[in-house]
Amino acid sequence: MATIEVRNLVRAYGAVRAVDGISFSVGDGEIFALLGPNGAGKTTTVEILEGYRSRDAGTVRVLGCDPATGGAGFRARIGVVLQSAGFEEEFTVRELVRLQAGLFPRGHDADELIDLVGLGDKRTTRVKALSGGQRRRLDLALGLAGAPELLFLDEPTTGFDPAARHHAWDLIARLRGLGTTILLTTHYMDEAQQLADRVAVMSAGKLIADGSPEQLRAASDLPTVISFALPADRAMAALPRLSAPLTVTGRRVTLLSRTPVTDASLLTGWAIQHRAGLADLAVVPPTLEEVYLAMTGEGRDDRPH
Ligand code: ATP
Repeated sequence: MATIEVRNLVRAYGAVRAVDGISFSVGDGEIFALLGPNGAGKTTTVEILEGYRSRDAGTVRVLGCDPATGGAGFRARIGVVLQSAGFEEEFTVRELVRLQAGLFPRGHDADELIDLVGLGDKRTTRVKALSGGQRRRLDLALGLAGAPELLFLDEPTTGFDPAARHHAWDLIARLRGLGTTILLTTHYMDEAQQLADRVAVMSAGKLIADGSPEQLRAASDLPTVISFALPADRAMAALPRLSAPLTVTGRRVTLLSRTPVTDASLLTGWAIQHRAGLADLAVVPPTLEEVYLAMTGEGRDDRPH
Protein backbone atom coordinates (compact mmCIF):
# COMPACT_ATOMS: atom_id res chain seq x y z
CA MET A 1 0.00 0.00 0.00
CA ALA A 2 1.19 3.53 -0.77
CA THR A 3 2.28 5.65 2.21
CA ILE A 4 0.58 8.70 0.70
CA GLU A 5 -2.39 8.56 -1.67
CA VAL A 6 -3.90 11.84 -2.93
CA ARG A 7 -6.86 11.99 -5.36
CA ASN A 8 -8.34 15.17 -6.85
CA LEU A 9 -7.25 17.33 -3.93
CA VAL A 10 -8.64 20.87 -3.90
CA ARG A 11 -8.02 23.73 -1.49
CA ALA A 12 -9.01 27.35 -2.19
CA TYR A 13 -8.35 30.54 -0.27
CA GLY A 14 -11.22 32.79 -1.37
CA ALA A 15 -10.93 33.05 -5.13
CA VAL A 16 -7.41 31.51 -5.24
CA ARG A 17 -7.40 27.76 -5.95
CA ALA A 18 -4.07 27.14 -4.23
CA VAL A 19 -4.41 23.38 -4.89
CA ASP A 20 -6.48 22.70 -7.96
CA GLY A 21 -7.35 19.00 -8.29
CA ILE A 22 -4.03 17.18 -7.88
CA SER A 23 -3.47 13.42 -7.62
CA PHE A 24 -0.29 11.54 -6.74
CA SER A 25 0.99 8.76 -4.54
CA VAL A 26 4.18 8.11 -2.61
CA GLY A 27 5.29 4.51 -2.13
CA ASP A 28 6.66 2.92 1.03
CA GLY A 29 10.28 3.93 1.65
CA GLU A 30 10.36 6.39 -1.26
CA ILE A 31 11.98 9.83 -1.20
CA PHE A 32 9.52 12.07 -3.03
CA ALA A 33 10.36 15.70 -3.86
CA LEU A 34 7.60 18.25 -4.40
CA LEU A 35 8.93 21.09 -6.53
CA GLY A 36 7.45 24.28 -7.91
CA PRO A 37 7.80 28.05 -8.00
CA ASN A 38 6.79 30.29 -5.10
CA GLY A 39 3.05 30.21 -4.59
CA ALA A 40 2.57 26.95 -6.54
CA GLY A 41 0.65 25.29 -3.69
CA LYS A 42 3.33 23.03 -2.19
CA THR A 43 3.04 24.19 1.42
CA THR A 44 -0.75 24.01 1.30
CA THR A 45 -0.55 20.44 -0.04
CA VAL A 46 2.01 19.36 2.56
CA GLU A 47 0.05 20.93 5.42
CA ILE A 48 -3.07 19.03 4.34
CA LEU A 49 -1.05 15.78 4.32
CA GLU A 50 0.28 16.56 7.80
CA GLY A 51 -3.23 17.20 9.10
CA TYR A 52 -2.60 20.88 9.85
CA ARG A 53 -4.84 22.30 7.12
CA SER A 54 -8.32 21.37 5.92
CA ARG A 55 -9.20 20.52 2.32
CA ASP A 56 -12.22 21.51 0.24
CA ALA A 57 -12.44 18.36 -1.86
CA GLY A 58 -10.63 15.14 -2.75
CA THR A 59 -9.44 12.10 -0.86
CA VAL A 60 -6.20 11.86 1.10
CA ARG A 61 -4.76 8.78 2.83
CA VAL A 62 -1.49 9.06 4.73
CA LEU A 63 -0.20 5.91 6.47
CA GLY A 64 -3.68 4.52 5.90
CA CYS A 65 -5.37 7.38 7.81
CA ASP A 66 -7.25 10.51 6.78
CA PRO A 67 -4.98 13.22 8.21
CA ALA A 68 -8.01 15.47 8.83
CA THR A 69 -9.36 13.03 11.42
CA GLY A 70 -6.23 11.04 12.36
CA GLY A 71 -5.62 12.93 15.61
CA ALA A 72 -2.72 12.34 17.99
CA GLY A 73 -2.30 8.69 16.98
CA PHE A 74 -1.65 9.76 13.39
CA ARG A 75 0.63 12.66 14.34
CA ALA A 76 2.82 10.36 16.48
CA ARG A 77 3.66 8.39 13.30
CA ILE A 78 4.85 11.36 11.24
CA GLY A 79 7.79 13.72 11.65
CA VAL A 80 7.70 17.32 10.48
CA VAL A 81 10.81 19.45 9.96
CA LEU A 82 9.85 23.03 9.26
CA GLN A 83 12.11 25.73 7.91
CA SER A 84 12.15 27.84 11.03
CA ALA A 85 10.96 26.10 14.14
CA GLY A 86 11.01 28.28 17.27
CA PHE A 87 13.30 26.89 19.98
CA GLU A 88 13.63 27.30 23.70
CA GLU A 89 16.93 29.15 23.60
CA GLU A 90 18.06 28.26 27.13
CA PHE A 91 17.80 24.48 26.69
CA THR A 92 20.83 22.45 25.69
CA VAL A 93 20.73 20.32 22.55
CA ARG A 94 20.47 17.11 24.59
CA GLU A 95 17.69 18.46 26.82
CA LEU A 96 15.57 19.50 23.85
CA VAL A 97 16.02 16.25 21.93
CA ARG A 98 15.26 14.21 25.08
CA LEU A 99 12.12 16.24 25.76
CA GLN A 100 10.91 15.78 22.21
CA ALA A 101 11.68 12.04 22.09
CA GLY A 102 9.84 11.64 25.42
CA LEU A 103 6.62 12.86 23.77
CA PHE A 104 6.44 9.77 21.55
CA PRO A 105 5.63 6.17 22.44
CA ARG A 106 8.62 4.82 20.47
CA GLY A 107 10.95 7.81 20.58
CA HIS A 108 14.60 7.53 19.52
CA ASP A 109 17.52 7.51 21.91
CA ALA A 110 18.48 11.20 22.20
CA ASP A 111 22.24 10.71 22.13
CA GLU A 112 22.14 8.43 19.09
CA LEU A 113 19.99 10.96 17.28
CA ILE A 114 22.33 13.82 18.14
CA ASP A 115 25.23 11.80 16.72
CA LEU A 116 23.18 10.93 13.63
CA VAL A 117 22.69 14.61 12.73
CA GLY A 118 26.33 15.44 13.47
CA LEU A 119 25.84 17.49 16.63
CA GLY A 120 27.80 15.11 18.89
CA ASP A 121 30.17 17.84 20.04
CA LYS A 122 27.27 20.22 20.81
CA ARG A 123 25.28 17.99 23.18
CA THR A 124 25.63 20.32 26.15
CA THR A 125 25.59 23.57 24.16
CA ARG A 126 22.63 25.86 24.71
CA VAL A 127 20.45 26.42 21.65
CA LYS A 128 21.17 30.16 21.67
CA ALA A 129 24.84 29.38 20.98
CA LEU A 130 24.21 27.30 17.84
CA SER A 131 24.91 28.60 14.33
CA GLY A 132 22.12 28.73 11.73
CA GLY A 133 23.23 25.48 10.10
CA GLN A 134 23.54 23.75 13.49
CA ARG A 135 19.99 24.83 14.33
CA ARG A 136 18.75 23.23 11.13
CA ARG A 137 20.48 20.01 12.17
CA LEU A 138 18.71 20.28 15.50
CA ASP A 139 15.43 20.79 13.57
CA LEU A 140 16.13 17.51 11.83
CA ALA A 141 16.91 15.70 15.10
CA LEU A 142 13.63 16.97 16.59
CA GLY A 143 11.67 15.89 13.51
CA LEU A 144 13.17 12.42 13.83
CA ALA A 145 12.76 12.15 17.60
CA GLY A 146 9.55 10.13 17.39
CA ALA A 147 11.11 7.59 14.96
CA PRO A 148 8.52 8.59 12.35
CA GLU A 149 7.40 6.23 9.58
CA LEU A 150 6.97 9.27 7.33
CA LEU A 151 9.08 12.42 7.46
CA PHE A 152 8.13 15.79 5.95
CA LEU A 153 11.15 17.97 5.20
CA ASP A 154 10.51 21.57 4.22
CA GLU A 155 13.53 22.96 2.33
CA PRO A 156 15.90 21.00 4.55
CA THR A 157 19.19 22.60 3.47
CA THR A 158 18.26 26.25 2.92
CA GLY A 159 21.06 28.33 4.46
CA PHE A 160 23.52 25.42 4.74
CA ASP A 161 27.13 25.77 3.67
CA PRO A 162 28.21 23.25 0.98
CA ALA A 163 29.75 20.80 3.46
CA ALA A 164 26.64 20.90 5.68
CA ARG A 165 24.42 20.29 2.63
CA HIS A 166 26.38 17.19 1.69
CA HIS A 167 26.24 16.02 5.28
CA ALA A 168 22.45 16.51 5.31
CA TRP A 169 22.13 14.64 2.01
CA ASP A 170 24.11 11.72 3.46
CA LEU A 171 21.85 11.74 6.47
CA ILE A 172 18.66 11.79 4.39
CA ALA A 173 20.00 8.94 2.24
CA ARG A 174 20.75 7.00 5.45
CA LEU A 175 17.17 7.54 6.64
CA ARG A 176 15.97 5.99 3.40
CA GLY A 177 18.17 3.01 4.23
CA LEU A 178 16.29 2.70 7.53
CA GLY A 179 12.98 2.52 5.61
CA THR A 180 11.67 6.02 6.42
CA THR A 181 9.44 7.45 3.69
CA ILE A 182 10.33 11.09 3.03
CA LEU A 183 8.37 13.89 1.36
CA LEU A 184 10.64 16.82 0.73
CA THR A 185 10.06 20.28 -0.68
CA THR A 186 13.04 22.12 -2.09
CA HIS A 187 13.96 24.89 -4.48
CA TYR A 188 17.38 23.27 -5.10
CA MET A 189 17.16 21.07 -8.16
CA ASP A 190 20.53 19.47 -7.46
CA GLU A 191 19.13 18.39 -4.11
CA ALA A 192 16.08 16.81 -5.76
CA GLN A 193 18.27 15.16 -8.37
CA GLN A 194 20.63 13.82 -5.71
CA LEU A 195 18.01 12.53 -3.26
CA ALA A 196 14.64 11.94 -4.85
CA ASP A 197 13.42 8.63 -6.23
CA ARG A 198 10.52 10.56 -7.67
CA VAL A 199 9.80 14.22 -8.32
CA ALA A 200 6.49 16.02 -8.80
CA VAL A 201 6.32 19.55 -10.15
CA MET A 202 3.47 21.88 -9.13
CA SER A 203 2.58 25.09 -10.88
CA ALA A 204 -0.43 27.31 -10.11
CA GLY A 205 -2.12 24.58 -8.06
CA LYS A 206 -1.76 21.83 -10.69
CA LEU A 207 0.66 18.95 -10.98
CA ILE A 208 2.49 19.39 -14.27
CA ALA A 209 4.92 16.48 -14.00
CA ASP A 210 5.50 13.36 -11.90
CA GLY A 211 8.29 10.82 -12.40
CA SER A 212 11.90 9.94 -11.59
CA PRO A 213 14.44 12.69 -12.40
CA GLU A 214 15.62 10.49 -15.31
CA GLN A 215 12.08 10.09 -16.66
CA LEU A 216 11.49 13.84 -16.51
CA ARG A 217 14.75 14.47 -18.31
CA ALA A 218 13.95 11.90 -20.97
CA ALA A 219 10.45 13.33 -21.46
CA SER A 220 11.69 16.92 -21.66
CA ASP A 221 12.97 16.76 -25.23
CA LEU A 222 15.83 19.09 -24.27
CA PRO A 223 19.02 18.31 -26.19
CA THR A 224 22.30 17.02 -24.79
CA VAL A 225 25.13 19.49 -25.34
CA ILE A 226 28.20 17.88 -26.94
CA SER A 227 31.29 20.04 -27.20
CA PHE A 228 35.01 19.65 -27.90
CA ALA A 229 37.99 21.66 -29.10
CA LEU A 230 38.81 21.03 -32.73
CA PRO A 231 42.37 19.61 -32.79
CA ALA A 232 44.82 22.23 -34.10
CA ASP A 233 45.90 20.04 -37.01
CA ARG A 234 42.35 19.29 -38.24
CA ALA A 235 39.85 21.21 -40.34
CA MET A 236 36.12 21.37 -39.69
CA ALA A 237 35.52 19.67 -43.01
CA ALA A 238 37.32 16.58 -41.74
CA LEU A 239 34.78 15.97 -38.96
CA PRO A 240 32.23 13.17 -39.43
CA ARG A 241 28.65 14.04 -40.30
CA LEU A 242 26.66 14.49 -37.04
CA SER A 243 22.95 14.75 -36.25
CA ALA A 244 22.70 18.56 -35.97
CA PRO A 245 24.55 21.67 -37.18
CA LEU A 246 27.83 22.52 -35.43
CA THR A 247 28.44 25.90 -33.81
CA VAL A 248 32.04 27.08 -33.71
CA THR A 249 33.40 29.64 -31.25
CA GLY A 250 37.16 30.01 -31.67
CA ARG A 251 38.14 26.33 -31.91
CA ARG A 252 35.35 25.17 -29.60
CA VAL A 253 32.75 23.13 -31.48
CA THR A 254 29.27 22.65 -29.99
CA LEU A 255 26.38 20.45 -31.05
CA LEU A 256 22.86 20.24 -29.58
CA SER A 257 22.15 16.56 -29.96
CA ARG A 258 19.00 14.51 -29.54
CA THR A 259 20.93 11.33 -30.36
CA PRO A 260 23.94 11.84 -28.08
CA VAL A 261 25.08 8.22 -27.95
CA THR A 262 25.28 8.01 -31.74
CA ASP A 263 26.96 11.41 -32.09
CA ALA A 264 29.49 10.70 -29.33
CA SER A 265 30.22 7.32 -30.89
CA LEU A 266 30.76 8.87 -34.36
CA LEU A 267 33.07 11.49 -32.88
CA THR A 268 35.16 9.15 -30.76
CA GLY A 269 35.32 6.61 -33.60
CA TRP A 270 36.57 9.35 -35.91
CA ALA A 271 39.12 10.56 -33.32
CA ILE A 272 40.51 7.05 -32.82
CA GLN A 273 40.62 6.28 -36.52
CA HIS A 274 42.39 9.53 -37.39
CA ARG A 275 44.48 9.76 -34.21
CA ALA A 276 42.92 13.13 -33.48
CA GLY A 277 42.97 14.34 -29.89
CA LEU A 278 39.53 15.06 -28.45
CA ALA A 279 40.76 15.26 -24.87
CA ASP A 280 38.14 17.71 -23.66
CA LEU A 281 35.12 16.09 -25.30
CA ALA A 282 32.12 16.85 -23.06
CA VAL A 283 28.68 15.21 -23.30
CA VAL A 284 26.31 17.10 -21.00
CA PRO A 285 22.69 15.97 -20.71
CA PRO A 286 20.11 18.53 -19.52
CA THR A 287 20.08 18.96 -15.76
CA LEU A 288 16.91 18.60 -13.72
CA GLU A 289 17.11 22.36 -13.20
CA GLU A 290 16.99 23.02 -16.95
CA VAL A 291 14.12 20.55 -17.34
CA TYR A 292 12.28 22.21 -14.45
CA LEU A 293 12.79 25.73 -15.83
CA ALA A 294 11.57 24.67 -19.27
CA MET A 295 8.54 22.97 -17.73
CA THR A 296 7.52 25.90 -15.55
CA GLY A 297 8.14 28.40 -18.33
CA GLU A 298 10.85 30.13 -16.31
CA GLY A 299 13.81 29.00 -18.37
CA ARG A 300 16.23 31.21 -20.26
CA ASP A 301 17.06 30.33 -23.82
CA ASP A 302 20.65 29.19 -23.37
CA ARG A 303 19.71 25.61 -24.19
CA PRO A 304 17.31 25.82 -27.14
CA HIS A 305 14.41 23.37 -27.30
P1 ATP B 1 6.60 28.86 -1.62
O1 ATP B 1 7.55 28.12 -2.51
O2 ATP B 1 6.70 30.32 -1.80
O3 ATP B 1 6.66 28.41 -0.18
P2 ATP B 1 4.15 27.27 -2.06
O4 ATP B 1 4.24 26.46 -3.31
O5 ATP B 1 4.41 26.56 -0.79
O6 ATP B 1 5.10 28.54 -2.18
P3 ATP B 1 1.56 27.98 -0.92
O7 ATP B 1 2.13 28.57 0.34
O8 ATP B 1 0.88 26.67 -0.79
O9 ATP B 1 2.69 27.89 -2.06
O10 ATP B 1 0.56 29.06 -1.54
C1 ATP B 1 -0.25 28.77 -2.69
C2 ATP B 1 -1.17 29.96 -2.96
O11 ATP B 1 -2.10 30.09 -1.89
C3 ATP B 1 -0.46 31.30 -3.06
O12 ATP B 1 -1.11 32.04 -4.06
C4 ATP B 1 -0.66 31.93 -1.70
O13 ATP B 1 -0.69 33.34 -1.80
C5 ATP B 1 -2.02 31.38 -1.30
N1 ATP B 1 -2.12 31.20 0.17
C6 ATP B 1 -1.35 30.41 0.94
N2 ATP B 1 -1.73 30.45 2.23
C7 ATP B 1 -2.80 31.31 2.29
C8 ATP B 1 -3.63 31.79 3.35
N3 ATP B 1 -3.48 31.36 4.59
N4 ATP B 1 -4.60 32.67 3.01
C9 ATP B 1 -4.78 33.08 1.75
N5 ATP B 1 -4.02 32.68 0.70
C10 ATP B 1 -3.04 31.80 0.97
